[in-house]
Amino acid sequence: MNEGEIRLNQTTQEWVIYAPLRRFRPEDFQAQTNIEATVIDNNHNCPFCAVSEEIILEMHRKSSDSWQTRVVLNKYPALIPLGKPKRKTEGMYLTMPGYGSHEVIIEHPQHDRHLALMDLEEVETTIETYHQRYLALMADANNLLVIIFRNYGKKAGASLKHPHSQIIATSVVPQRRRWQEEAAQRYFDRLGECVYCDIIKHELETCSGRRIVGENETFIAFVPYAAEVPCEVWIIPKLHQADFGSITPKEKKDFASLLKDILSRMYYKLNNPDYNYVINTNARYKAEEPQVHWYCQILPRLTTTAGFELATGMSINPSLPEIDADFLNS
Ligand SMILES: [Zn+2]
Ligand SMILES: [Zn+2]
Repeated sequence: MNEGEIRLNQTTQEWVIYAPLRRFRPEDFQAQTNIEATVIDNNHNCPFCAVSEEIILEMHRKSSDSWQTRVVLNKYPALIPLGKPKRKTEGMYLTMPGYGSHEVIIEHPQHDRHLALMDLEEVETTIETYHQRYLALMADANNLLVIIFRNYGKKAGASLKHPHSQIIATSVVPQRRRWQEEAAQRYFDRLGECVYCDIIKHELETCSGRRIVGENETFIAFVPYAAEVPCEVWIIPKLHQADFGSITPKEKKDFASLLKDILSRMYYKLNNPDYNYVINTNARYKAEEPQVHWYCQILPRLTTTAGFELATGMSINPSLPEIDADFLNS
């Protein structure tokens, strides 16, 4: 099996991606069990300092001739755009080809540059690159969901220090995304409002901004009321917007400015923590709906997810969101 496959777990209705291109044999995992994952932290062997793959997109800063961001296919893709995402039964089981895309966004030519410390124009160029690739991947009707994410540091699963994000397009809608859409739909059916718009209003008006850690004309950043991990922050457009693809030029600037502000505060106050962030946007066919709303979720990796969380999906957070908000605002 060289090409990927996606199988359905019939007990949870969750799809699992099998990506044999990422690893070769079970023994390869064995060798890694007892050693810490290595991070290529110098520029000697860095595949992003000297790109050998085909460059899908290259963007320049307005004020410079040299490139700032480059997009390439992931060398070890989880999904590839080959064939058709057609389901097939295997007895009681369901499987399909691993159709999709997996790209890497190299955010800067400089190997040890931190996104948190880039200047505003550099962060804006990164967001512009996200948006262009998002629209390009959504132009393929087989892609149902496009997720942009950034893993930073070992605990967040990054294996390269060079500043980069990833973008994966899937031909299935994951169960977790459906749960979120359905929760928003039930709220809308009961109250006729978008739950995310209501949360924004509530945080701004009723809670006197006690969990808010940043705001500009079109976005707010806040520690959510039921944050899963310490210092989790959401950055969300103030006006209803279901799809990240609909972001306007003004909103891209405001999003970049708040993202830079929150990441640099985390960098200084939490001592350069490992983190993941993800742009949670909605699946095709939900992208115009009044009840779902995209947001960027930043999850610092300050604690470890263990057996209970994996078994239940229920987080144990040792820190209260209001205290985290005070800390980030201090
Ligand atoms: Zn590098
Ligand atoms: Zn909304």
